[in-house]
Amino acid sequence: MKPFRVRMTDEMIKTYGMDKQMDRMFVEPEYIESVDFSVFHSDDYVDVLKNLTLENKDLYADQINRFNFGEDCPIFDGMFDYCQIYTAGSLRGATWLAQGLSDIAINWSGGLHHAKKMEASGFCYVNDCVMGILELLKTYERVLYIDIDCHHGDGVEEAFFTTNRVMTASFHKFGDYFPGTGAIDDIGAGPGKYYSVNFPLSEGVDDFTFEQAFKPVMKEIMNRFKPDSIVLQCGTDSLSGDRLGLFNLSVKGHADCVKYMRTFGVPILLIGGGGYSLRNVARCWTFETSVALGIEIENEIPPHEYSPYFGPDYRIHLPVSNMENNNSREQVERTTQQILQNLKNITAVNVDHSNYRNQGAYPINHLAYDDKENKQAMEDKNKDVTMDQE
Ligand SMILES: [Zn+2]
Repeated sequence: MKPFRVRMTDEMIKTYGMDKQMDRMFVEPEYIESVDFSVFHSDDYVDVLKNLTLENKDLYADQINRFNFGEDCPIFDGMFDYCQIYTAGSLRGATWLAQGLSDIAINWSGGLHHAKKMEASGFCYVNDCVMGILELLKTYERVLYIDIDCHHGDGVEEAFFTTNRVMTASFHKFGDYFPGTGAIDDIGAGPGKYYSVNFPLSEGVDDFTFEQAFKPVMKEIMNRFKPDSIVLQCGTDSLSGDRLGLFNLSVKGHADCVKYMRTFGVPILLIGGGGYSLRNVARCWTFETSVALGIEIENEIPPHEYSPYFGPDYRIHLPVSNMENNNSREQVERTTQQILQNLKNITAVNVDHSNYRNQGAYPINHLAYDDKENKQAMEDKNKDVTMDQE
């Protein structure tokens, strides 16, 4: 199963010829079937996810309620397979980075950041972000998760709330908005205190405001936490004109986050996320793929199968709306200063990998999978960007 917006993105990336400028991460059916959600999710939740169908849902009435299936997380045919496919993409991306096959790996079908250990949430069933990070923790000492979706990255934050090996930083609309969490004083707990960062924003965030918030905070996190790998969730519902989002970013402003994080030279797993205006999702992730590749692409979208969707302008970059920006420069500066103050408390912890299972994250189990093809690809390594295509 490939959601339409991912299909559109995929097609547009090919139209620009970018698929020829990167290695493709093949995700074999056996690999997809071997994905074990119980590395993060509870067994009883996984069991329901696997067995629940539209036909038998009456038998699972209690669990549907308990695990939050229904309105925001509808049951649909192929739900379990869908989860395995997008999660396999993030896991494979993580292993490619860990094996040194790429500096940047991309899985635009991933980024389902709201799913909890035993709860579906906001159309997220399995949290591939968490599972990708757990995979990276097998190799890397410290992983930084960044979330530029309009919604708070609550599921990822919750999973790593008490560890200092994973730092989470989310920039999101806050106040009377799903999922309701992500206040500035939401900073982590126990050994993970100060390792959760939340930058709450009001509606109408434009490129200037986002840059004012993003760069100083990320620079300080990179200086102090010194992550050896990064997961960047690029939800596009923070773009201007999104049907659910309330921000006003341009594609370029959104992609500047990718461009900025790339300057640190740390391996990055780029994943998708929200985005409810189809054309803008494809525009943005196509452009961000070019940023990952470090190339420039024409603003004019070449003719391709989905061209009619992009009329009448047929361009990647469009003007943003004239919505009001409710974030004053002073307020953004105050929030930034408060976060920078908190960040003085964090350090780059070193991890004894011989004992990494006890470092405060969820238990980590190696996926039983013989990665022959990746070993082969390692010998043939000459490009630095990969892309997952389901
Ligand atoms: Zn979102």
